[in-house]
Amino acid sequence: MAAPPTLPGEDELAGLLQALAVRYYPGAAIRFRVEWSRRMSRSAGLCYYRRKVIRLSWRYHAVFPAEIENTLRHELIHAAGILGHGPRFVAEARRLGCDVHAHPLPGRPWRYVYACPACDQQVRTRRRVDYSCGKCSRRWDARYRLVLKADLRSAGGELP
Ligand SMILES: [Zn+2]
Ligand SMILES: [Zn+2]
Repeated sequence: MAAPPTLPGEDELAGLLQALAVRYYPGAAIRFRVEWSRRMSRSAGLCYYRRKVIRLSWRYHAVFPAEIENTLRHELIHAAGILGHGPRFVAEARRLGCDVHAHPLPGRPWRYVYACPACDQQVRTRRRVDYSCGKCSRRWDARYRLVLKADLRSAGGELP
């Protein structure tokens, strides 16, 4: 998948990873491809050890572009055969100067806007829900069942 123009391309990432591999794991002949993932949003990067592929989250690095090298250093440790984030990983992270855990991504944008048919109170959600208005009734009440007013994604309001 092609990288957006504001972030380095996959060849550049592979070159950066290679330079780091030679520096920190000389003689280990670590050869991994580096790919952008547009879907990944739960982690900054993932190392597919058997497939010799490192995937970086485009969403994450679009928010934190300065973290690309940090993420590559982290995934390089996995590529060197240290899986998981136990004491060995933590020691290597210290040696390579990278973080063990990535920053949390800012919350996903809301997708749906619902409104109460009685009081017009608006509720924003990330997924489809079937709620009744909490302001009008503390219990489920069909009279105050929320009505879908907008789907922000279909309106172009959210990144995939
Ligand atoms: Zn990791
Ligand atoms: Zn209401």
